[in-house]
Formats: sequence, structure tokens, C-alpha cells
Amino acid sequence: MLDERVRTRQVERISKGQPTTDGAGVKLNRVIGNHAVSEVNPFLLLDEFRSAEGADYIGGFPDHPHRGFETVTYMLAGRMRHGDNHGHSGLLGPGSVQWMTAGRGIIHSEMPEQENGLMWGFQLWINLPAKDKMIAPRYQEFDPAAVPVAELPRGGRLRVVAGRVDGVEGPVAGIATDPVFADLALPAGGSFSLALPSGHNAFIYPFEGEALIGDPVRAVPRGSLAVLGPGDGVAVAAGASPARMLLVAARPLNEPVARYGPFVMNTQAEIRQAIADYQAGRL
Ligand code: MN
Repeated sequence: MLDERVRTRQVERISKGQPTTDGAGVKLNRVIGNHAVSEVNPFLLLDEFRSAEGADYIGGFPDHPHRGFETVTYMLAGRMRHGDNHGHSGLLGPGSVQWMTAGRGIIHSEMPEQENGLMWGFQLWINLPAKDKMIAPRYQEFDPAAVPVAELPRGGRLRVVAGRVDGVEGPVAGIATDPVFADLALPAGGSFSLALPSGHNAFIYPFEGEALIGDPVRAVPRGSLAVLGPGDGVAVAAGASPARMLLVAARPLNEPVARYGPFVMNTQAEIRQAIADYQAGRL
């Protein structure tokens, strides 16, 4: 439990994700990076893809570029194959994570390795500070067994991908914005309180059940984003059914954001350069 000196973060905003398609027709719930919530600094985008219908995802995400930020793919079900123009490739299965620091750029594809059955996961985009936007691309990929899981004393389960939560440290390391990325499952009526760095911006995204957050409690339904206000920690509970949610935080960047599709830089000139580099085959 948080002790009484801790300032509990409250829910500052609740925003329902917006259904959309991206890539070659993949159906998504766009939670950050939509018309209602353009960003939660330094988070630029959060998509949930969840369908058992092959037609909703079979087109995948054929070759496309990235420059200037990081993409995190966290899988719950199904298999996604990844390959880039620098010879890196891999297969992401249930419970695995890929943290890609695009840096100066890659061109890659992200394609389903199945034609039907449940495909369920997330992609989160995190901005890079100006000084890191042109670094060499870097991948951190972990199988499910490499992502630590804590059984919580009052029921529930916590998987930590990045950062430290309740003494559990995630395997992703060396990320500029010191992120926390955790997957929290609570039984019906279960609760959990955790510390979060006070300088970080933070959000919770329930993807099963309903999350009850803060004091006074706000109920956040599955598929909606809860942006948290300032504080040192947060108290979360499940409603009448089990709940599961992403709990994400990072240090905000106080730099201008110039964004054009898969390129996120600081100035329009840098965006024009990124497009020119992509078109000239320099990524
Ligand atoms: Mn991509």
C-alpha cells in the first residue's frame, strides 16, 4: 500500500478510444494519437488491435518507414512477424514484447503470421529527445519468459516490461524517457497501489473489465484511456469482474514536436529531410 505521505494521482481525463484502420486495413482501437487525444507527452500513439476475424488484420503493416521515435509492440494473442531493411527480423508471439528505437530510421513490415484466430496486442509510440532522434536503430526483444511476473499478495498479477514497479524490474533498459510499462491483472474486487515517479506523465488503459482509479474513484471502462494527474503513486481496483490494464508512464519531453505520419522530429525542415531521405533510399 502507499503510505499516507504519498500523493495519489487522480484521473485527469477519460477518453474513449476511436475505431480506425491503419496499415493495409488492420482494424484498431486508437487510444492516443486520435482527434480527442493527440498525444500524452512523450506518448504519440497507442493502438489496440483485437480481432478473431482474419479479415480484420490479414493485410498487416507492409513496408513502411519510421524515424525519430520508438515503437513498442506488446502481444497478448496471435503471432506477428517483423522484418526490416537492415536485416533484422523476428517473430512476436503471445506475451512477447519488441521495443524498437527507430532513431535515424528503418523501413520495416509487421505482418500477421496467421490467417485466422485471435490476434490481440498493442502498439505504443514514444518520442525521442532531439539529441537521440538520429541515433542508430536499436531493438530490444523479449520472450514471455523474460518478462518478470509478480503474484500480488491480495490477488492479481503484475508483468513489468520496462521500469520498476513494486520492486519488479522490467527487462527493457536504456530508454531515454525512463519509461514504466506494466500489465496489471486484478481479480474482481481486487486492488493494487503503486508508486510512480512524480515527474512522469502517466496513463492507464483497461483492456479487460473496468478499472477503478484514484480517490475519489473514477470508473474507466475497457477501451478507454485514463490520463493521470500529478502525484507520486496511484491506487487501482477492479470492479465486479476481473480487470486487466496497461499502466504506462514516462518523463515528458519539453521540445517542439513536428509530426508527419511515421516521422516525428522537432522541425518541419527535419520532416522534409526525413521524407527526402526515405524517398532517396537513405533509411
Ligand atoms: Mn511500424
